[in-house]
Amino acid sequence: MKFNTKTIHGGQKPDAAYGSVIPPIYQTSTYAQSTPGGHKGYEYSRSANPTRHALEKSFASIENGKYGLAFSSGLAAIDAILKLLKPGDEVVSTNDLYGGTYRLFTKIYENFGIKFHFVGMNNTEHIENYINANTKLIWVETPTNPMLNIIDIVSTAKIAKKHNVLLAVDNTFATPYLQQPLDLGADIVMHSATKYLGGHSDLVMGALIVRDKDLADRLYFIQNASGAVCGPQDAFLALRGIKTLHVRMQRHCENGRAIAMYLDKHPKIGNVYWPGLEHHPNHAIAKSQMLNYGGMVSFATKGNNYEEAIKIVEKLKIFTLAESLGGIESLAGHPASMTHASIPKAEREKTGIVDSLIRLSVGIEDEADLIADLKQAIG
Ligand SMILES: *Cc1c(COP(=O)(O)O)cnc(C)c1O
Repeated sequence: MKFNTKTIHGGQKPDAAYGSVIPPIYQTSTYAQSTPGGHKGYEYSRSANPTRHALEKSFASIENGKYGLAFSSGLAAIDAILKLLKPGDEVVSTNDLYGGTYRLFTKIYENFGIKFHFVGMNNTEHIENYINANTKLIWVETPTNPMLNIIDIVSTAKIAKKHNVLLAVDNTFATPYLQQPLDLGADIVMHSATKYLGGHSDLVMGALIVRDKDLADRLYFIQNASGAVCGPQDAFLALRGIKTLHVRMQRHCENGRAIAMYLDKHPKIGNVYWPGLEHHPNHAIAKSQMLNYGGMVSFATKGNNYEEAIKIVEKLKIFTLAESLGGIESLAGHPASMTHASIPKAEREKTGIVDSLIRLSVGIEDEADLIADLKQAIG
């Protein structure tokens, strides 16, 4: 099955009870048993639920995996991966990563004796300097947030294999429409399904997808033992979202391109970050591992003035000023005062998050309206 068919049919059969084409919402905690232990595959909804199960099969299908797991949030999914580790273990992670992931690593798991090394992975050769006998996991996010750096998954996977270390890729920004990390050598794919997979800004959810049976069993054990599962209503919404993932992503990419090109030529705009621009520092890697370049675009004004950037985001009318990304509607954010406000200015500027940086999650509205909105706001 090709990707555009998998989003609609992957892992899904009409429901056994009445042939419902769409997996019903099994809003139940428990299931009748004919005799103790005599059930039809479901006994308690933390352990398994038919709606969630349909979604987990869909996740596995679209990522070319074998096993999928659905969690109550993206962070709950990352939390489950970290529970594979023990005190004394070490993790080599991307340095430019989602703030909530950084917080989970440093404020929770460092307390449990796990050591994290945050490394610039533009050059994957750096990774090996941080690997030792205790290293158990390499954590990669690509494209990164908000600078849209691209990390070479194939060469990172080679390093992981050589040292017998797990490689996990946060594929939230790319989605499996653009990039399939398991095919590139990763062991675990993680998603905040809150973003593009759900796609309509109406749920919070996480996903893990793997191929290895033993790894799947260990992660399932953690999911069931720790309990951060998603509910059946949210599983239904995510399944509905995934059915249009390929169509939405096409438009996100087209609109992303149009806006990146517009901003790149704008006399008041300085750096524009979109991996599809030929002058993007990682354009060649993006081209080799992604189908297209997505709908996330970041830019800074030439004057690099904090107040000027605030004025721009306040003036936007179609772009909503909000956190999050990946929905059908366009959003704008100002990392220095919003998502990255807790990071000291000198620290954030090291990774390029200057005062005037604005991050756009370009939606699937009409391109001309979006450009007109940016035009009136930037002036
Ligand atoms: C949002 C996000 C997360 C966290 O997911 P939640 O669903 O908010 O818990 C992790 N990684 C990336 C790249 C994200 O954008």
